Amino acid sequence: MNILVTGGAGYIGSHAARRLEAAGHEVWIYDNLSQGHRSACRQGRLIEGDLHDGELLESTLKDKQIDAVMHFAAFALVGESVTDPAKYYQNNVVAALSLLEAMRRADVRRFVFSSTTATYGAPETIPITEQEVQRPINPYGFTKLVVEQALADYAAAYGFGYAALRYFNAAGAATTGDIGEDHDPESHLIPIVLQVALGQRDQITIFGDDYPTPDGTCIRDYIHVDDLGDAHVLALQKIELGAGLQMNLGTGRGTSVREIIDACRQVTGHKIPETIGRRRPGDPPELVADSSLAQKTLDWAPRYTEIQPIVETAWRWHHLHPRGYE
Ligand code: UDP
Repeated sequence: MNILVTGGAGYIGSHAARRLEAAGHEVWIYDNLSQGHRSACRQGRLIEGDLHDGELLESTLKDKQIDAVMHFAAFALVGESVTDPAKYYQNNVVAALSLLEAMRRADVRRFVFSSTTATYGAPETIPITEQEVQRPINPYGFTKLVVEQALADYAAAYGFGYAALRYFNAAGAATTGDIGEDHDPESHLIPIVLQVALGQRDQITIFGDDYPTPDGTCIRDYIHVDDLGDAHVLALQKIELGAGLQMNLGTGRGTSVREIIDACRQVTGHKIPETIGRRRPGDPPELVADSSLAQKTLDWAPRYTEIQPIVETAWRWHHLHPRGYE
């Protein structure tokens, strides 16, 4: 298939683009490079454009004879979404609707959507299944839920087919070592801890050690970015027009902040000093996905089930590219 990957110059999108190419698809990347990196894209495959530019989107979809869109272009920081919700509603909702409308005009109706466990808010039951009520507790989660709802409505009314993939903490990097995580400023736990090991930061601040978890720090489900990419490739094949799939993607295993820091110490051999800070607003104590539905539906299973090998791939990237893509 000819696939348009929005946000394909970003962290998850660039890895998914690689997996799509490995599966034999023709990939075009659509990215405004506000967060993404030109050198994360294969040469000649980047269309530099904004999602608000409906005309460019429409002509791209037509010219490249696109069969399906994978939509990664979005902002994804919970804290920032609380302080600057307008940015999130503009980019994650308005821009996504601009994309859906361009698709409607170009008669492209297959869509894989990068959704999130944040649509569940602070869930009652762990691990989280797709039966859990979606009740977001921050604007980021709301923006993703709005798009999920729009997709359901576009499927019913206009015959779109889609997969909404709800994942939590993407982590690690391609084993090739040439693409990886590079945000500016960086706010994610694993890259920050590895920056301490690189000598770029003095210590890691743990955001709260008084949560109701065994070691008092937050528990998350860290899934390798290539496992995510593979699930996206498989989901594409399962899409049926007029219907939607909603699936969690995770490993089913929770890892605490302290366990992440320990894994980074093991992998890097650096002592990684830590300090305890205040809780970060909007952080639920524990989020672990039950991804048995995805495993069954897609005949997929994460290849990385332990945290240390995930951190090893992240370390390879950060070690080889201490300043990211530059
Ligand atoms: N975290 C932390 N210190 C940091 C960055 C993150 O203690 O400098 C914690 C954060 O509170 C959360 C976990 O690490 O419990 C993962 O945070 P991250 O920002 O990587 O991903 P999120 O869970 O927000 O998607």
